[in-house]
Amino acid sequence: MSDPLTGDRPAPLVELIDIVKVFPGVRANDGVTFTVEVGEIHGLLGENGAGKSTLMSVLYGLYRPESGQIRIGGEPVEIGSPRDALHNGIAIVQQHFALVPTLTVAENVVLGDERGRRLRPRALRATVGALAERYGLDTDPDAIVGRLSLGGRQQVEILKCLSRDPRVVIFDEPTTVLTPAEADRLFATMRSLAAEGRGIVLITHKLDELLSITDRITVLRAGRTVAAVATRDVDPPTLAQLMVGRAVKLRTIAAFTGLATDAADHGFDDDQPVATGPADHTTEDPTAAPRVAAALELRGIHVEHRGVARLTDIDLTIHRGEIVGIAGVEGNGQRELVEILCGTRRPTAGALVVDGVDCTRQGPRGLRAMGMRVVTEDRHATGCVLDMTVAENLVTDRVDRPPMSRLGWVSTRRVEEHARTLIDDFGVRTPGPRTMMRSLSGGNQQRAILARELSGDVRVLVAAQPTRGLDVGAIEDVTTRVLAARAAGAGVLLISSDLSEVLTLSDRVAVIDRGRLVAVLDRAEATLQRIGPLMAGVGAEVAP
Ligand code: ADP
Ligand code: MG
Repeated sequence: MSDPLTGDRPAPLVELIDIVKVFPGVRANDGVTFTVEVGEIHGLLGENGAGKSTLMSVLYGLYRPESGQIRIGGEPVEIGSPRDALHNGIAIVQQHFALVPTLTVAENVVLGDERGRRLRPRALRATVGALAERYGLDTDPDAIVGRLSLGGRQQVEILKCLSRDPRVVIFDEPTTVLTPAEADRLFATMRSLAAEGRGIVLITHKLDELLSITDRITVLRAGRTVAAVATRDVDPPTLAQLMVGRAVKLRTIAAFTGLATDAADHGFDDDQPVATGPADHTTEDPTAAPRVAAALELRGIHVEHRGVARLTDIDLTIHRGEIVGIAGVEGNGQRELVEILCGTRRPTAGALVVDGVDCTRQGPRGLRAMGMRVVTEDRHATGCVLDMTVAENLVTDRVDRPPMSRLGWVSTRRVEEHARTLIDDFGVRTPGPRTMMRSLSGGNQQRAILARELSGDVRVLVAAQPTRGLDVGAIEDVTTRVLAARAAGAGVLLISSDLSEVLTLSDRVAVIDRGRLVAVLDRAEATLQRIGPLMAGVGAEVAP
């Protein structure tokens, strides 16, 4: 946008210049420059740990940078607190919402805002209702926030930001909690905000989202700005390469940008040992016994927590050599399902059967002995121990037995030998087996976890959000391992909120909504158009 009379461009809404922010041991921002122009949607891209959230926290006044300058509308400012940030027109829609579940939408929107507190309830409802309508948000001001879906709560967060009439709105990975339709609606809201001359910052790992909605993209790598480009000038391979710092195989990019959601195209099979596929029996005489045995059966699994049903009547069979994907918006029972499969939670009712053996009452060790392996969603909390070495992490499942230890004495030599083999086999990039797990990148931590989980006799692999937050190179490796486990005859349960990942890898797709499997579809039937509405609780095939 430029001034028609003078031809001058208006000053950028925000300029972050040479920002340095140091945490103990890491320069999270190492001289980052980032600008937001009037009326633009600006994507911020970078692999996990690149410094995106830190940079936005500096802008939002949560962190004080060691050095660097912030300018708002061309004027240097000090932003010492979120209050200062709001004052300067900066608002943020957080990854984790800070709403009060027992209050209404309208009450939440004005919480902590002096002006809003002075409004009478009726005027308040009208104001919030008008704001929602203006930006295409279908939120009822009187609804109790605790009853809303995650997508609904996000709309409340957005309304809360907009009620402050911000100049710049930052969205930090906003679409992970949304169905595809909700994401589209969010993008429409972003566009109308930008059309009013506001600036939007969008942080996301999803290249297809960035390419379809942003005007410009800034790429961070290891705390530095490596590129600031016009979106129309870049394509997925270029972005992937800028982000990771090296060329990345095209098919990986295609599969994970959502640009290849054709369910018929497996994408990865060309150089993989291909499994014959599990579903042959469906085309045969239906009375004949299935030719492929079940690796894992969930029979009528029910989970109640404090009187609330979290999982209801989960019936699902995963055959050997089959990948079953669970599609669903986060928070619909996926976490509870993984806990059951880990053996850390007992179902209230129902049975868990591994390779024909009832394992419902087994704990984590018993399940593991049955060949059940789980890659959990939260790598840091449950997947690995950050303050132990890579070698120690690679043997946690076997360190108490020969050959790793005898009579209580651990053989460091054997542990390190074993670790070296796995490090080589799985391409874990680490200075050595004695390096602390904490100092590896997210992708290499995940490679190490897979190395541990996939060594030995694997009958069932449960992979929860296995590629979340990883760079494309690591995504490619993780995906290859999952496909190899299937080819070796394991039954794989893939739980992911990334629909394109589920559609690309799965032989069958189950859709979870509010703790129920609302559909189990063969790959040919599993399309975005069919699954999107099911995830959103529309058109469920099983009556509630
Ligand atoms: P991104 O959002 O791009 O994934 P972050 O900005 O969260 O990256 O992190 C950048 C780097 O700074 C990472 O190495 C991270 O471990 C480190 N870091 C972020 N926040 C803190 C903190 N509060 N204390 C210590 N280190 C941190
Ligand atoms: Mg972040």
